[in-house]
Amino acid sequence: MTVEKTLSIIKPDAVADKIAGKIIDMIENADLNIVKMKKMHFDTDLAQRFYDVHKERPFYNDLVDFMVSGPVVVMELEGENAIANYRNIMGATNPSEASPESIRGKYASSIDKNCVHGSDATDTAAYELGLIFG
Ligand code: ATP
Ligand code: MG
Repeated sequence: MTVEKTLSIIKPDAVADKIAGKIIDMIENADLNIVKMKKMHFDTDLAQRFYDVHKERPFYNDLVDFMVSGPVVVMELEGENAIANYRNIMGATNPSEASPESIRGKYASSIDKNCVHGSDATDTAAYELGLIFG
């Protein structure tokens, strides 16, 4: 087992729906330690850099617009196998395929409004944590 860090974002849909507290509760119940947390509002430049890996995808512009549409809550999470552990409690990208126990299974409305983000590997976690927390 390896202690890892990962970046969690509670996306604009979930913050607007006032379910950030419910999501944080699920994170804490999954043995993930919240090392840093802040509420912030992405600007377009940050959203574009954050999702740079998807810049050739057809949904990129809509994704960037969504991420700047309202405030988000960002967290640095730490724990054993934190990256896979958090991805597991997030559930599949498309909420219709997500486990009903997962964050997206419980709360997300669609693939483009899917409540949460989580880093998917150690290198992307380091890149994303650097972008958000410096
Ligand atoms: P995230 O990176 O936000 O944690 P993810 O890793 O589960 O989500 P990615 O493949 O990295 O999924 O896609 C990033 C985001 O782009 C998704 O969260 C989703 O909102 C959006 N997205 C992905 N695929 C599609 C699609 N086919 N149509 C619309 N939006 C999509
Ligand atoms: Mg991703």
